[in-house]
Amino acid sequence: MNQLIRCKNCDEIFMKTPFDHWPEYEFGSNHPDESIQAIEKDDFQDFLIHHHGHQLEDLRVIEDSFISEKAYSEPIKTSYFKATNGKESFVIKKFRERIDEPLKYQLIAGDYSLKWIGLHVQTKEIVEQLKKEFKNNPLTQNQIDAFVKLYHSIVETLPVKNLERVPEESPNPLEIFYKMDDVSLFYLLRNCRHIFNKQEHLRIEDFIHRHREDGVLLLRATYKIQIKEIAKSKKKPVPASVLLRKKEVLKKE
Ligand SMILES: [Zn+2]
Repeated sequence: MNQLIRCKNCDEIFMKTPFDHWPEYEFGSNHPDESIQAIEKDDFQDFLIHHHGHQLEDLRVIEDSFISEKAYSEPIKTSYFKATNGKESFVIKKFRERIDEPLKYQLIAGDYSLKWIGLHVQTKEIVEQLKKEFKNNPLTQNQIDAFVKLYHSIVETLPVKNLERVPEESPNPLEIFYKMDDVSLFYLLRNCRHIFNKQEHLRIEDFIHRHREDGVLLLRATYKIQIKEIAKSKKKPVPASVLLRKKEVLKKE
């Protein structure tokens, strides 16, 4: 079981994992294989020594609060999650700058949210797919351009709340795929009549239906992690007696 510990004096945290007690082995070039030296390593002990006499508390990680800027399989990335001591909530930044570095944890007083950046039409993919599927009876470049332009114009006016999320896996955790709503679909189909002849229209209709929920017509929304930090005066370790007086003052108010 992992345990998240915060030093209230320094606002530093420690993620206690079962691995902290595993010894580190050193392969010295002077030693034959039999004399591999095991060095007892206990990072948690180091943390306790460093924060001796400080107030420590356990934080509980808030479930489902993990968010990462890159794919989960990426070793070098920054992720965030939320934790609480029951009264206050904190954002914990988890990061690693180099692949051979251990994970670092940093406490941020505040909160985070996902900020909507934009909605993108997969233009390149649509064009490629149209060319591929209409290989035998190719569409003209003008028709393809007109279709893409029409789709863009519909998406631009699309109310975000009408979008329906699709369970499409994205390698990027800050990308979410949506499909257009039925009203937009109807509008798209109707306006395609101005671009394609009757026979082509039947085929484009089929194309739209096939690619709307699971294909190139999906809309890609991008998000950004926005950290809202609460300005906090840099706390210095305060003697317990001062803390007590502070508590008394607070009670009187
Ligand atoms: Zn401390």
